[in-house]
Formats: sequence, C-alpha cells, structure tokens
Amino acid sequence: MIPFQVFEQISDKCNEGLVLGKACSNDGAIMELRWCNKAFSNITGYSMQEIMGQRGTILIGPDMQQDKHLLIIEKLMNWEQFSVKLLNNRKNGELHWQKMSWVPLSDPVTGDRWWICSIMELEPQAEFLPKRQPTTSTCSQAETEFKNREKIQRLERENNRLQEIALSVAKESREDPLTGLSNRRHFQVELRSWIAELRASGQGFAAFYIDLDRFKSVNDTLGHHAGDKLLVCVADMLLGMTDETDLIARIGGDEFVVLRRLTESALNISELADNIVKKMQLPFTFEGKSASSSASVGVAIASSTMERPERIIADADKALYHAKAQGRGRWSYFTEEMHTAAIEEKRLSSDLLMACGQRQFEPYYQPIVEAVTGRLMGVEALVRWQHPTKGLIQPAEFLNVATSIGALRKIDEIVFGKLCATWLHFESLGIDTPRIAVNVSGERLADSNFIHQVRSSGIDLRKITFEILESVYLERMNDTVRWALDELTDLGVTIAIDDFGTGHASIQALIQIKPSVLKIDRQFVQPMTSDPTLKELVSSIVGIGKSLDMKIIAEGIESEDHVRIAKDMGCDYLQGFHFGEPMPVEDLFDQFICGEGKLSSKKKTKAKENRRERTILANRSWIETSGSI
Ligand code: C2E
Ligand code: MG
Ligand code: MG
Repeated sequence: MIPFQVFEQISDKCNEGLVLGKACSNDGAIMELRWCNKAFSNITGYSMQEIMGQRGTILIGPDMQQDKHLLIIEKLMNWEQFSVKLLNNRKNGELHWQKMSWVPLSDPVTGDRWWICSIMELEPQAEFLPKRQPTTSTCSQAETEFKNREKIQRLERENNRLQEIALSVAKESREDPLTGLSNRRHFQVELRSWIAELRASGQGFAAFYIDLDRFKSVNDTLGHHAGDKLLVCVADMLLGMTDETDLIARIGGDEFVVLRRLTESALNISELADNIVKKMQLPFTFEGKSASSSASVGVAIASSTMERPERIIADADKALYHAKAQGRGRWSYFTEEMHTAAIEEKRLSSDLLMACGQRQFEPYYQPIVEAVTGRLMGVEALVRWQHPTKGLIQPAEFLNVATSIGALRKIDEIVFGKLCATWLHFESLGIDTPRIAVNVSGERLADSNFIHQVRSSGIDLRKITFEILESVYLERMNDTVRWALDELTDLGVTIAIDDFGTGHASIQALIQIKPSVLKIDRQFVQPMTSDPTLKELVSSIVGIGKSLDMKIIAEGIESEDHVRIAKDMGCDYLQGFHFGEPMPVEDLFDQFICGEGKLSSKKKTKAKENRRERTILANRSWIETSGSI
C-alpha cells in the first residue's frame, strides 16, 4: 500500500501535469474531470476547482489542430493508450507545444473506467507558432467567466461535430463494406475483449469458422456480381440465426466467423452449427440462375480452463479443415487430436520441403488395358515418397499437405522429370514404351514454366496424357490454366479428366475443356457390382462421355465382375488392381516389358523379339502399346 501522504505529494511535486477523468462506461470520449495536480494548473492555467466536474473538452484548446482533435477522440473511443504532440491553448488563449498522453484505468471493484491524462510542456517547435495575445487582465472577473463559458459551449459543439465524424470513420473502419458485418480488424479487437472477459469473469465462448465450399466456382460461372450477392445472402442468413450478443464478422473473401457466449446448454452451439450447414445447402438464385455453395464449419471453444484461449480461432480453423476433409457441407468440433494432427502436419510440411530439395519422390506405374481386348494401352504414373527413414509413403498421406504449402507443383515436376528420364532410357535401348498418363495439379498447370518443360522433355508428346482432377478445372480454371491446356493440346498431348463424378462438373464446363478422356472415379466403379444405383450412375457417365466423343476409363477394377460390367457398359479402357497395382519401374520392366529379370543387353534383344509375340493376359500383363486415348 502506498501511504496517503506519499501519494499526496504527486499533486505538489510532480512536474508533469496530471488530470484524472471518470469516463462514461460505453463511450471513452465522454468524461467528467475529477482531479488534477499543481503542474497541470501551472501549464494550463485551470485550477482544481475550475476543472472539477467539467467535461474533458476543456483540455482541447480552440486552436488545436483538427486532425489532432479527431485522433484524440478516436483513441479515447477505442480505449487506447496513446501519446500525441500538439499545439494547445492555455486558459488565457496562449498557444504552446505539449505532449499529451492518455492511459485508460479501471476500477476492479466497481468496473468503472477512468482516464489519466498527462501533459508535458515542450520547447517551442520549429513549426509556425501562431501568435495570440494573452487575455488582458483588464477584463473583469464576470467578463472572463462569461467568455470561458462561451468558449466551453463552442468547444462542446465542435467536439460533438468531430465526434460524429469520428464515429462514422470508426464505423467504416470496423465494417465490411459489402455485408455490413464486422471486418477482420474489428473482429480482432473484439476477440481480444472477449478473451479479456473470459479471463476476468470466466465467461467462455464458442467460435464458428465458416467457409463457403466452391465459392470460387460461383464467381467463375455466374460472375463476381453473383459472388457478392451470395456473400450478402450468407451475411443476412447469419444475422437471422444469431442475436445481438453474438459477434459476426467477415474475415476474408468467403470466410465468416461467429462468436457466441457459452450458456448452460451445449445445444446452443451445436444447433447453430447445424443450422448454418443446413441453410447453406439450399440453392440460391441470381438473376434467374440457381447455384449452390454449401458451407463447412469448424467449431472451437474458449473456456476458463484453457491456458491459451487466444488459440480459439486457430482451433476452429483446424476443425474447419477437418470438416472439409470429411467431404465439406458439414461441421466439425475441434478436438485435441486435431491439435496433435496440426503439430504432425507442421512436421510433415518441413519434411516435405526437404524431400523436394532432395528429390525423394518416385513415379510408380499402374497398367491401363483395353476393355475389349485386354491389351495394354498404357500406364499411369503415380507418385510415391521414398522417405529415408519411414520408407514408402502413399500420396494420400502427403498430397493435401503438399498442396497447402504449395509444394505439389515441385513434386509434379520431379515425378515428370524422373519418368521422362526413364522413358528416354527405355527408348535409347530400343524398347517400345507404352503410353504414359501423368497426374498434373492445378498449381503445375498454372506454372508458367510448365509448358516449356513439357516441350523440352525429349519424349514423344503424343504418348503423353495429362490427367487433371475434375476439381482442378472446377476451382482453378482461369486464363493461365486454359491457355496451358490449349498449348498442351496443340503439342499433341492428350487431356483426361480424372476422378470424374466427384466434383459436380457441369456438362458446359466439359464442353469448354474438351478433354479426350474421362476417368470414372473408383468410388463409383468399385461398388457397382452390388449397388444398382451406382451402376446406373456409371452407365450414365459413360453415356455422357460417349455423346461428347470421349474415351472412357473405369478406375478401380478389382474383379472379373467389374471387368464384365464395365465392358458391357461400353468403357473403353480399364484400370485397377485386377490388372496390377502401382509398381516401381524395375517391376514394371520385369513383369511387363521384359517378362523377367533385369534389363540386360540379352534381355533387351529378347524384349525386342518378343514384342510382337506378346499375348493377352488381361489380369497379369499388358502387351503392346496400342491405340490412342
Ligand atoms: P488417381 O489419379 O485417380 O489414381 C488412381 C488411384 O487409385 C491410385 O491411388 C491407385 O493406386 C488407386 N487404384 C487404382 N486401381 C485401384 C483399385 O483397383 N483399387 C483400389 N483400392 N485403388 C486403386 P494412389 O496412387 O494412392 O493415388 C491417389 C491419388 O493421388 C491419385 O488418384 C491422384 O489424384 C493423386 N496423385 C498420385 N500421383 C500424383 C502425382 O504425381 N501428381 C499429382 N498431382 N497427383 C498425384
Ligand atoms: Mg490419375
Ligand atoms: Mg482417378
């Protein structure tokens, strides 16, 4: 405890002018002055009696620059601690330079808020200092008081006007202009105060991180106008299902966050998440056209038991990521496992970057056969990560992370470089190489160097098919990608759409891209032996492809039944474990090119001799490179 006598000396002995004001609880710019020290009276000319009960505007001289006045109001309104150097008038009108500093204080018992303002007189600054005559002492006491009252009233009016301007400036700086919701900046200020409230009173809250699925395709297909309208609809929908105690913000292009205080019932949280997901499933119409854009939601909680409640948004983001990975159009609740997974993901990211540097990726090859003859038509190159300690890693374990850190382009480049080297090597040995299908990511298609690498690869480009995921052309189609596809077609490369059926591509989009090949995803093909609906679906995909003059490849052929059904439906080519799993180049060579053993000059000759005699064993071998897809 500081003894009162010591505390009292602040008033007499401190050289800095100090004035204390009690603020209005909901507007920091409104205050009533309650105390000042001697130095304050010396600098400003106002005694303790004169300032007692006065509004803070008494501290703003008539000649204070407007921008400084505005800044002070804005900072006070936001309860920010700040200092400002300015020209101000003393009570007698004399101008002087001062440094004015404001610190917000609060009373932990009553919750009242206060300001302490310190004023330090500065040496005259180099800038122009307007001369103003001190008020002459010939004025009578009554005259001086009248003038002072008048001055204060004028200042009040000026202050109100500036406050209005400041309010509208502050509103603009807080609002997202499109939706009227809080913007990212204001959201962050609010989040800090929600966390402060949690720390002070234990009031926990939930964060809902909402991201629209395929928002980009709405923008691309219906235009930005429609995209904007969708965002406004989402904002209205969120406003409709929340109340004024919730905070709703748009923090990125198609990203929204809702903060809601926890109540006794957890239903309050899960119901909101359910509702958002459900409402977003409904199609929205724009100028007579209908579009759908579901939303995924990640939910996390900040509670008083948490060590770092600041983590809440990162946690909600992880939950959102999980919801997306589970198939979008759903919500996920953050769990500690997700946190562990995120740490694991960070580790994986840095391993991946190192792996790119050391070119640890290898293409594996899977046969594709002609449906009718069972003859080998080509192979698909599929990446594997040859990890120095963990061994062989499948793409499912690293492609998502590689995509998120932008490493997929590099991986594709490494795979393509390695398979080209192998194919050129085979060709230099006189081996008739099969056609090769290569998966190409959106990032790689958009890479300006890509076409150059393809052109200078040295292999016969008519033997190459680039497989593009349906989602790539749905979500990333832009001029660069379109140009790359046109260039590839001009070079004689075949374009295939991979995993067709998973991304809801429109027929119009198909016509636009004009791929020569459709690959039907194995999630439809595999169950078609037991599920008549899926069988029908595959059959209609085949019909669509045929009507657009495309060749059809069925993926995921695992049994004789699959072979028969796919063949009857009219699929042109088949790929699946029934014919062979993805394998390293040595096995490819041993099993399918040479028939046995490693490549030697004797075998090379034998391979050449055998080339014409190779026979059809659909489930084991692929024979001649024939046909073109
Ligand atoms: P995808 O291009 O559709 O490749 C087919 C996937 O199905 C391969 O999985 C293959 O091993 C698997 N598969 C083929 N037949 C069967 C079957 O009969 N049964 C079952 N259960 N699975 C079968 P993989 O190699 O794990 O690759 C997964 C996905 O990763 C690929 O799907 C492709 O989208 C992506 N990918 C693979 N390699 C690359 C690459 O080099 N670059 C890029 N950008 N993506 C790649
Ligand atoms: Mg593929
Ligand atoms: Mg596929």
